[in-house]
Amino acid sequence: MTAMVLRRPKTPLEAERRPLPSPGPGELLLAVEACGVCRTDLHVVDGELEHPKLPIVPGHEIVGRVAAIGAGVTDFAVGERVGVPWLGHTCGCCPYCSSGRENLCDDPLFTGYTRDGGYATHTVADASYCFPLPSDSDAAALAPLLCAGLIGWRSLKMTGDARDIGIYGFGAAAHIVAQVAIARGRRIFAFVRPGDTAARDFALSLGAVWAGGSDETPPEKLDAAIIFAPVGALVPRALAAVRKGGTVVCGGIHMSDIPSFPYALLWEERRLVSIANLTREDAREFLALAPQVGIETHVVRYPLTAANEALADLRDGRLQGAAVLIP
Ligand SMILES: [Zn+2]
Ligand SMILES: [Zn+2]
Repeated sequence: MTAMVLRRPKTPLEAERRPLPSPGPGELLLAVEACGVCRTDLHVVDGELEHPKLPIVPGHEIVGRVAAIGAGVTDFAVGERVGVPWLGHTCGCCPYCSSGRENLCDDPLFTGYTRDGGYATHTVADASYCFPLPSDSDAAALAPLLCAGLIGWRSLKMTGDARDIGIYGFGAAAHIVAQVAIARGRRIFAFVRPGDTAARDFALSLGAVWAGGSDETPPEKLDAAIIFAPVGALVPRALAAVRKGGTVVCGGIHMSDIPSFPYALLWEERRLVSIANLTREDAREFLALAPQVGIETHVVRYPLTAANEALADLRDGRLQGAAVLIP
């Protein structure tokens, strides 16, 4: 097998030939068909997430075919297509796992961060954290659903019944959640990097009612806002854009520091919350909902060995939609 390996943060991934692993008890060996490139991968590679397993194979938006089945796995068959998300394992017994909040597990494993992920021709995954995917869809188009889609879904749920929703940072997660939200009767206000007319046009093409720079004030007060851009300065801006009782959801795993801001921005029962990881229930809900909504993902394909180029394009804001690696 071939894997793109990060040996040390802030260095390029290196292509490496490895022997094909065997799945252990409860595991699946997958032949990777496609793996999405998520901003979290960039945070791992750039050293902003501090405790990766090293060396690590990044990638947690994996679409693959079951190539071999470990002992004790009964619910998958060889050749079946499955998806592997960020949540790679949980302990099952901590207070969070015991209360339906496995996304906050005290002893988790994360795909592509603390266990090897999908920037490879093959990977081994815990079968309990794999999800069946439709066999007839384009693998590359499915890949972004597994993190961008799932985290977007969890973020959207956090906005409750908000009708008018601002989205800050219109990348992979935003372009999926916008389609889900619009299908559910919500109105989307897209905030993009100031001057990024391509991102603004992209948001409008997906049905946003308004799109403008993140330094602009929307034409009306919003019920909620979701921040996907890793920019802490957007938090006070988003709080200023939501009406009384509104919610601001931080959807990313890493953000630059949030500048201090007047209490008046939070007062009147505005809420500021973050999203951490996902639960398997989120995945089951969202993967069932995706075909009903008819989500169309916009993907840019790269060969597996061009992973560094894909990461650079994401870092520099050169992508509309989601980058996907194809082995
Ligand atoms: Zn746990
Ligand atoms: Zn991700």
